Amino acid sequence: MAGRPLALCTWRLTLHDKQEASAVARIFDGEWTEWNTSSEDRYEVMTRAQTVGIILDGPHSIKFDMRQWANGGLVHHCDGRYFLSPDSSEGRSCGCPSSPIDRRALTRSGMGPQPNVTIAFRLASAPGVGIFRMRSVSWRFAENAMALKEEIGSNYEGVVWRISLHQVKVTTGVTYVKPVLAFTE
Ligand SMILES: [Zn+2]
Repeated sequence: MAGRPLALCTWRLTLHDKQEASAVARIFDGEWTEWNTSSEDRYEVMTRAQTVGIILDGPHSIKFDMRQWANGGLVHHCDGRYFLSPDSSEGRSCGCPSSPIDRRALTRSGMGPQPNVTIAFRLASAPGVGIFRMRSVSWRFAENAMALKEEIGSNYEGVVWRISLHQVKVTTGVTYVKPVLAFTE
């Protein structure tokens, strides 16, 4: 296995404020540095945390859509049933299969769109620091997040969630990181 990069299983957070970066690093017993980026989040914090307690503002904090790209352009953008863009086809049936198994198969074959989940969250241990975002294109995470979104309805107040990173090794020996979203008890 030498030379094969191991998937990181601890959270890396990026921030635009130096003071906040150092505060977040202290909370998670991690280290902050300035990293090479063109984005405004100039500071990164490598934490030692595999699980982070988070707060979501409301249903809009979990966003799901499906996207298929070809030649650098977005050729299929939908919510699984209806097109979301371009404007000329928005709201029209997109033709994606309704069964989750068929959808996954279509994504895997490269013939169908890929899920795209974005979670906007605050850190439960430092809610004042601002809003962080994470994105995943995994079907498993999409189903996990959408099931919890349905379960919670509009009752977000006072709920602390947790999001953990798990290392998964597939048969080819490649490891990747699987995020898992849950409610804290
Ligand atoms: Zn579709």
